[in-house]
Amino acid sequence: TDLSRRIPEGKRNDELSRLARTVNGMLSRLQESFARERRFTSDVSHELRTPLAVIRSQCEYALSPEADCDGKQEALTSILRQTRRMSDMASQLLLLSRGENGTFTPSLAQVNLSRLTAMTCMDLEPAAEAAGLTMETQIQPDLTLNCDETLMIRLITNLVTNAIRYNQPGGFIRVSLSTESPSDEASQPMAVIRVSDTGIGIAKEDLEKIWERFYRADSSRSSDGTGLGLSMVRWIAQVHGGWAKAESSPGHGSVFTVWVPVG
Ligand code: ADP
Repeated sequence: TDLSRRIPEGKRNDELSRLARTVNGMLSRLQESFARERRFTSDVSHELRTPLAVIRSQCEYALSPEADCDGKQEALTSILRQTRRMSDMASQLLLLSRGENGTFTPSLAQVNLSRLTAMTCMDLEPAAEAAGLTMETQIQPDLTLNCDETLMIRLITNLVTNAIRYNQPGGFIRVSLSTESPSDEASQPMAVIRVSDTGIGIAKEDLEKIWERFYRADSSRSSDGTGLGLSMVRWIAQVHGGWAKAESSPGHGSVFTVWVPVG
């Protein structure tokens, strides 16, 4: 029951020492995977506690004699927002875990990424406007990519939603799509999706952590997000053989870039 224990490996390179090293290696991997499992269960429970507590208290209020018609309406609106957030979290978690245990197969097809990016930005423009932000797009025309269309829409949506959510009043968002030629002949050309904002930015020590599930920087704890958006972005980039990176200047803005090989 104690996965932290190890077999003494000895200094020699005989059969028994090699066997001990192999078993110890296996124990380390098991220990890490159990720890990950425990962290995950505790994160999910923690994340569900807040929306459930809100739903419960809003139901109690709505059923109480002092709730008038407007109060009930407000309570229902709040319940709806929390249930949307929970169902969003459930579907993102399901996708991520199917990705992790290898049971997810992307539906690959030739997609006009230029059109898809433009349309996704158009869908998000009203939200940006409502937040008092200006959105600009710089899209290279007719870029096609062998990719999963639904996942790509989600990737762009997650990045632009964050650029809206973590922006500042009167702020700016730029979404660009371009291709990058390889530096050596062995590599493939890359499609580059870049979302820049003039938002609150991300502290240097948070830049790697933001990709972890449920991680949220302190400044955004109260946001409506699930803390899963960027894990999804990185995973979707990887599913397509690519990668994602964040750069930021705290207080001034952030730049998220995704590279996907054009194959
Ligand atoms: P959330 O649902 O909280 O937005 P994400 O996984 O999308 O979860 O992002 C993780 C955290 O990274 C956010 O809580 C926020 O602290 C930070 N973050 C993401 N995008 C931005 C951005 N464009 N500007 C500043 N901080 C950001």
